[in-house]
Amino acid sequence: MAHRIESLNAYVACRQGDKAHTAAFLICKCCQTSCEVNTGGPTELLATGERLGFSLDGLIIEGRGLCADCKVD
Ligand SMILES: [Zn+2]
Ligand SMILES: [Zn+2]
Repeated sequence: MAHRIESLNAYVACRQGDKAHTAAFLICKCCQTSCEVNTGGPTELLATGERLGFSLDGLIIEGRGLCADCKVD
């Protein structure tokens, strides 16, 4: 199980098992580190998909910015 991060053009291993979930990533635009974090995510989209009979594998949210190491005060 891996997620594809479009903006990094890369796959990252998932640490949350194989059930459908919202994968939210914090991506540092400086050192390109990515970190999967737990989030409730847009459950409305999951619910709406389900209502329409659409089987979602999951969602990916990409949050870009600067990590703690790269952030300069
Ligand atoms: Zn994941
Ligand atoms: Zn960084």
